[in-house]
Amino acid sequence: MSMTTRKIEAEGSLATSATVAYFSMEIAIDPAMPTYSGGLGVLAGDTLRAAADLSVPMVAVTLLHRHGYLSQSIDNDGWQHESPVEWVPADFCAEQSERVQVVIEGRTVHVRAWQYDVHDGGGHVIPVLLLDTDLDENSAEDRTLTHRLYGGDDRHRLCQEVVLGIGGIRMLRALAYRRVVQYHMNEGHAALLGLELLDERAKSFERDVFTSDDVQAVRRQCVFTTHTPVPAGHDRFDLNPVGRVLGRTDLFDMHEVFCCSGELNMTYLALNLSHYVNGVAKKHGEVSRQMLTPKDAEHHYQIDHITNGVHARTWAARSFANLFDQWLPGWREDSASLRGAVAVPENEVWQAHQAAKLDLIDEINSRQAIAYDPETLTIGFARRATAYKRANLLVSDPGRLRQIAEEHGPLQLVFAGKAHPRDEEGKRLIQQIVRMKDTLTPEIKIVYLENYDWELARLLVAGVDVWLNTPQPPLEASGTSGMKAAINGVPSLSILDGWWIEGCVDGVTGWSFGDASPAKPGDVKRFHEDAAALFGKLDEVVAPTYYRNRDAWVRIMSHAIALNGSHFNTQRMVQQYVLKAYYKS
Ligand SMILES: *Cc1c(COP(=O)(O)O)cnc(C)c1O
Repeated sequence: MSMTTRKIEAEGSLATSATVAYFSMEIAIDPAMPTYSGGLGVLAGDTLRAAADLSVPMVAVTLLHRHGYLSQSIDNDGWQHESPVEWVPADFCAEQSERVQVVIEGRTVHVRAWQYDVHDGGGHVIPVLLLDTDLDENSAEDRTLTHRLYGGDDRHRLCQEVVLGIGGIRMLRALAYRRVVQYHMNEGHAALLGLELLDERAKSFERDVFTSDDVQAVRRQCVFTTHTPVPAGHDRFDLNPVGRVLGRTDLFDMHEVFCCSGELNMTYLALNLSHYVNGVAKKHGEVSRQMLTPKDAEHHYQIDHITNGVHARTWAARSFANLFDQWLPGWREDSASLRGAVAVPENEVWQAHQAAKLDLIDEINSRQAIAYDPETLTIGFARRATAYKRANLLVSDPGRLRQIAEEHGPLQLVFAGKAHPRDEEGKRLIQQIVRMKDTLTPEIKIVYLENYDWELARLLVAGVDVWLNTPQPPLEASGTSGMKAAINGVPSLSILDGWWIEGCVDGVTGWSFGDASPAKPGDVKRFHEDAAALFGKLDEVVAPTYYRNRDAWVRIMSHAIALNGSHFNTQRMVQQYVLKAYYKS
């Protein structure tokens, strides 16, 4: 397509309808593009896919991440090793000829964009602009800015955020997206876009200082979604490096915008520059209101919630997609149709599940020597390996686990998940689980699958019998993998935290266990109490139902799809963003 045609098309569609610009440091766009690390990126991708289904005019901005997020291998002793994932952007994306510039530490850094089009399968397209500084014009160091997701030190991260927030706005202008009416910051990484909008506005009035009117005007255009109640998950930068990187300090005097003395906190920047702010589950909204409102604050931040979802078509296993095509036609366009799953014959639900389970077992058996079996109760746990997720809860009492297997029937455990390269504790958790193998086998099979990513997640969430989640409350903002499991009729067994507080009807959509009240990090007593509760639920309800009451089990599977798949999806979620955030005046 020639430049002129592309421009005319842009003029004809997105540039002329009131468009939402969605900014995210990571987006899981295509399974073969390593441009995401985990839940945040998958959510961003599922958001765009649902927005395409619903014909919401949207354009997305992210970084290219030319060397990907890490590829994980685990050695014989259970230690994680990381390597880059190379990919070829031109195989997936169209290079755009426009260039924009940002200034970092006084240097001009040139930025290019690659475009990937997310389709709904019909006519609606959502362009994703992947920003790239790997250009001959840039210094060797600046060329690496868009190489690696969450790869460098604080300074590197801040430079990346300049490219994303400031470079992103400039690229939208260069590509003639003129009618962007809302800017959605998916997490605080993109908060510098607010600074660029302030600058643009001041410049348009030929001023070089901002006024409160400028701040109000920018606020009307911005939406912010916060994703984590873990304080370390919020980007904060010391003011000295911020001054050096941005080449200015004028901002720091504007307390209504930049709030905190001594540091630039991206979460507060985004909060102060947005007219609508939300957490990602009901409970997370509450927790964020408490956590983010300073003690001596004059006003409380208005923080709403919109509970996360997953994109049904993306996460339904082949066998379930076929089943839904047959019994719930229209589910691809309208995820709410999944409510009809209660009327799908139970033996067909079971067969679809067994097909998905065989696909997972083939994968497991191709990776290691101990053969997994499709008739054995299989428990899955896959998420980022980090302390608060407590991946080791299930293996904390091997004797008890063995007892449950002897009493009711055999057990198979499947684990996966990457630790962040600098998260030593996360790596030790992986090692602890891998080392359990000698203790648990042969009575209980256990495997830690390397390199948890989109493809492996698809196999896991559909192929296990129970999806386990063991977070330390209230640190699981939402969690989305349990929603993917629900689409495939896999019930969750989870602590009541994040989305599960809304999704759990005990004994109907899955099961809860343990204490939902806030726990202190590293609370050993609580760890053992929650473990005992988990084993109790497995022993008294989960294993006996699986092995001795298959009809009741399959009814739970159907209810997981009907009650939770129909609701915890990104089509419902995007509609809420449209009504509550984007087009609310
Ligand atoms: C869905 C997904 C996640 C997030 O799942 P949580 O339940 O939020 O931990 C992380 N990584 C991958 C690869 C996923 O597909």
